[in-house]
Amino acid sequence: MPKGILVECTTPDNVVAHESGHAALYSLILNDESLDWNYLLYDEREVDRLHDAYAAAIVNSIIMKDPAMIEMYNADPWMYAAKKVGFIQGSISKYAGRRDGETVSEWFNDVSANGENADDFSEEIHKL
Ligand SMILES: [Zn+2]
Repeated sequence: MPKGILVECTTPDNVVAHESGHAALYSLILNDESLDWNYLLYDEREVDRLHDAYAAAIVNSIIMKDPAMIEMYNADPWMYAAKKVGFIQGSISKYAGRRDGETVSEWFNDVSANGENADDFSEEIHKL
């Protein structure tokens, strides 16, 4: 059994854990006092962009704890971006590579379903 969750194995519990991951991410954003909310339009697309930008910062800060990823980035940032997606799809799920917001949610899902057997990157998300 590979580490991480394969989309093919998705159950209702996985869906709940995945959506809870999005909720946890929104909660992190809303509690981040460094963000200025005064100029935010409460437009769904703007909130989605904020969610994904915030998720991208989280995904990169976790992935860049791996020296191999730093080396890959330094060698070729464009190649790193492509390889990052492939790496995430291979270690968590195909869906996790779709957008950074989905990566964060699938990391939550992985820990919820697999506990101590979750991927190392997934475990990092719970330290935030
Ligand atoms: Zn999702």
